[in-house]
Amino acid sequence: MDITKILEYQKLDSELFKLEKALRDNPNKKTASEMSNNAKVAQQRSVGLEKKAGELLAEVDTIKKQFQIQTDKMAQVMAKNVDAMSKEEVELMLSLKDKLFQNLNILDKNLTKLAENVNAVLADFNKTIKTYNLAKEKFTQSKAAYDKDVEAVEPKKVEFEKGLLKLEKGIDADLMEKYKKRRGDNLFPVLVPLKGGRSCGGCHMELPAAEVAKLRANGILSCEHCRRIIYYSED
Ligand SMILES: [Zn+2]
Repeated sequence: MDITKILEYQKLDSELFKLEKALRDNPNKKTASEMSNNAKVAQQRSVGLEKKAGELLAEVDTIKKQFQIQTDKMAQVMAKNVDAMSKEEVELMLSLKDKLFQNLNILDKNLTKLAENVNAVLADFNKTIKTYNLAKEKFTQSKAAYDKDVEAVEPKKVEFEKGLLKLEKGIDADLMEKYKKRRGDNLFPVLVPLKGGRSCGGCHMELPAAEVAKLRANGILSCEHCRRIIYYSED
């Protein structure tokens, strides 16, 4: 089998492969992907914090209501006429007053603690929103830079593809199909020479003698290990 044409094809294709690889490894693309992810994480966090803030504010409401109830009770106790009470009744009233006072103190402490929590959640929320905005901004920048990089290599890409299409016409259809299948899986180079008369030029695995004989007879052989197409070479 004459493989001169497909080797020529592969040579030009290697230029296209390099170009595609450079785009895959493009730093702007990587940054855009990272920033997109950061923005997503920050957004999820902000939703969680919003929910938390809502729960804390509901707790504040509950405590304020309890505080009002205790204050009203205290007012009732204070309004009573002590002169008309027996000694036992006065003592009972004083103990009730102490208890109400304690309750109010506890509620006040809880409220202070809650307020601190609310403030912490709000500060975290603001910080998260800043992170989100920054990530979004960096994403937009790096995405634009990447798009520009893609655009810059587009004419070269089109030129390579046109050249390949022209070369394809002189190549055996079956061989071309095999080539394209491997190339589609990012296996490159697809065609490799036989090395030292017995090894795959791609993965360096040694071939059984029978396989080498088959390769000599057919001119090409598919490597069982790396799937590359080995062609006969005296090297
Ligand atoms: Zn191999």
